[in-house]
Amino acid sequence: MTASIARAMTKTEASLSAIRDRIAHAESIARRDRGATTLIAVSKTHDAAAIQPLIDAGQRIFGENRVQEAQAKWPALQEVTPGIELHLVGQLQSNKAEDAVRLFDAIHSIDRPSLVAALAKAIDKVGRAPACFVQVDIGDEPQKGGCALSGLPPLLAEAKAAGLPIAGLMCVPPAGLDAAPYFALTAKLARDNGLTGLSMGMSDDFETAVTLGATHVRVGSALFGPRG
Ligand SMILES: *Cc1c(COP(=O)(O)O)cnc(C)c1O
Repeated sequence: MTASIARAMTKTEASLSAIRDRIAHAESIARRDRGATTLIAVSKTHDAAAIQPLIDAGQRIFGENRVQEAQAKWPALQEVTPGIELHLVGQLQSNKAEDAVRLFDAIHSIDRPSLVAALAKAIDKVGRAPACFVQVDIGDEPQKGGCALSGLPPLLAEAKAAGLPIAGLMCVPPAGLDAAPYFALTAKLARDNGLTGLSMGMSDDFETAVTLGATHVRVGSALFGPRG
């Protein structure tokens, strides 16, 4: 860049590039390929005015945790900037499956047979199929969503039988504990089940997740600042 066109990075560009650098550093520590990890910018609770600077800084992959909130925000943003990929990272009610299939490119929260059935039906009706991650209740915290470890093999079998494109596993480890053992266990479960995708790691632990094989990290507050 020549001096005449040099300009200061915006605050958003700086924080995005800092997160990308930290991901790249973790990839290199783990001898993984650079770029092996996809950064999902989790924009839940943030409005279009807060999201647009991140789009302007080059981020194209975003995560939301509620279907209705995403429906209200994203179509207008996507009209301005084509090529944005949306990931649903929050729990999904079966009666919202069709809306989710229309809007999202990936769904990270598949955790029960009834949702597998609802998604299969919606995919058939809508004619598009988001990438599907099965969420595992890795810390045995039933309030959190995710299927029990013992329920994973049958749920994966049902999802395959229903024709869902299973990309991998997703987890949210228990708060306040070292996440590493939970990430390692999720990675092992994925390997044991022949899956390559691993959606794990948030603002406080994404580097650990990357060293343990995360293919998708879901980062919100480290990019956007705290949620109100
Ligand atoms: C909110 C959320 C995130 C992002 O959390 P931060 O700590 O803000 O990075 C990631 N994954 C899920 C499932 C979430 O609900």
